[in-house]
Amino acid sequence: MAYQGGKRPVERASKIAHMQLIQDQSLIELLQSYHSDQEPKTAFKVEKTGQIDLSPLSKIERIVTVDGGFAVIPNPIRRNKTLAFIQVGTNLLSVADLLAMRANPMMDPRDVTAMLQRIHYRPCTLPLSGVRIPGQTIRDTIRRSINGILSKPYTDLYEILHFLVHRSWLPEGAPRPQPEMECYACDEKFGIPKDFTFSCPHCGHEHFFSDYLHIGKNSPDEWSREESAISLMSVIETLALFEVPVHLARRGQLGLMANTLFIKDGPLLLRSYLSRLVEPIRNFIQWIKEREIEFYLVGIEKTGEFSTFLEEYTSITKYVGDYFIPSVKFLIEDVAGAVMDKNYRNRVSYGSKVSVRLSPEHAVPLNIPTGADYPLVPKAEELLGFEEIIRALSHLTSAQHDNALIPLVLANRAVSISQRPSGNILHDFMSERIK
Ligand SMILES: [Zn+2]
Repeated sequence: MAYQGGKRPVERASKIAHMQLIQDQSLIELLQSYHSDQEPKTAFKVEKTGQIDLSPLSKIERIVTVDGGFAVIPNPIRRNKTLAFIQVGTNLLSVADLLAMRANPMMDPRDVTAMLQRIHYRPCTLPLSGVRIPGQTIRDTIRRSINGILSKPYTDLYEILHFLVHRSWLPEGAPRPQPEMECYACDEKFGIPKDFTFSCPHCGHEHFFSDYLHIGKNSPDEWSREESAISLMSVIETLALFEVPVHLARRGQLGLMANTLFIKDGPLLLRSYLSRLVEPIRNFIQWIKEREIEFYLVGIEKTGEFSTFLEEYTSITKYVGDYFIPSVKFLIEDVAGAVMDKNYRNRVSYGSKVSVRLSPEHAVPLNIPTGADYPLVPKAEELLGFEEIIRALSHLTSAQHDNALIPLVLANRAVSISQRPSGNILHDFMSERIK
């Protein structure tokens, strides 16, 4: 880079070198391609997988949307003390209300507020550094906080976690894999019992059931990373997403889920240690599928490699109703630019990726479950409730943001706790309390 600024004139680089470079044929072609706003030509052939007729009315009547947000707020005086504020909202919306809203964008704000009143908030705080229960390390404080957060009356999601981890949909006494974890004290592996507290059979160290999630386990004793807050938010979102199906399964009333669409803001994915929940979730979905119960679940991707790829290749799904289901190999090699291992097995996702043209302006990347298997080349008929989900979403597009859907716009509005400007209230609250 040339020197810039100061009192002297800006450095002028050699024009001769520029001229030689500019005349280079390969550079000319590169520049033409760079300046062109046409889709980049690919070495691979990408075309749509098929098309859905969107004209039949969708039978989806209600939508449950789950979305989370978080902010890490330092103590205004001692900035090494930080707390994470997490907010997860579950919103129940009627499709009839949403359609009325879409038809009338200038709707009375009081009506929108009324719609948002059916949102169930699960706010929680997690200490990350410098904040502790007296006499305990920060790591222990975090463990105890998470145990408390999942318990009643806080988020009351422990039962959902227990149901999934211990595969309680299976009849009593039926064979099932025993969940295992590593001890927090001696690191030895052991099978966990069905209790909410238990001790390590090797060293006797006491554990909470929530320790199975390993959140913050590998953090140093005295501080934890933002990652712990992201993991906790991810767990709460996932458990909130399955709250209704699990409660109905326990009462033998899964049929009540008919005509309900569950939407998660973000991919159907759990990373790192949390991925130990993925297999039970896939198996639970498989169990529902085998009972031929209607179950509509979709994750909406807003960021990530697939979403960026689709922004670039808008013509793959050119007409409304067109869809594109990439193979896993395509996603790994052509979208992410990595090499697919021949022993590849996906252990983190419980939905396959698909992109659908919902409107002339909306080509939305979605995740839809298939059941126990994670097919490497998913077919449309393997995606549970695919056509029904797409028909419902095609009526719910919003022009507010690129690729936006009304239920997510509402859910985002309800739970967002960005650092600025709304996050400032947390900052002010902390300052006030500290004074
Ligand atoms: Zn132990």
